[in-house]
Amino acid sequence: MGFWCSKIRTRRKDHRCETCGQTVRAGEKSWDESGLYQGDFNSYRQCAACKDIVRYFFWRGSFDRLEGYQLNELAEYCRDEGLIWPPQWNYVAGATLEPTT
Ligand SMILES: [Zn+2]
Repeated sequence: MGFWCSKIRTRRKDHRCETCGQTVRAGEKSWDESGLYQGDFNSYRQCAACKDIVRYFFWRGSFDRLEGYQLNELAEYCRDEGLIWPPQWNYVAGATLEPTT
């Protein structure tokens, strides 16, 4: 059996979400994902929107808890479900939305 660890962190520097490639800015939160999966150690940073989408696919049963999922499959799954990709989600504590004028 492997193990998996997810921690939400407030970023001190900008970084790219390794799932969708969008930028998480300093002061925003994103997830540190790490663990042992099928004998390999993995770690990556994931934005809150991607995390939510992954949860959704697990809930739907599109992804199997034991088999997990491939990061590169996610865009395809979203297209199939008619979801926006890259994900748009503004639930990031402390973030302010830029005014659209
Ligand atoms: Zn992302």
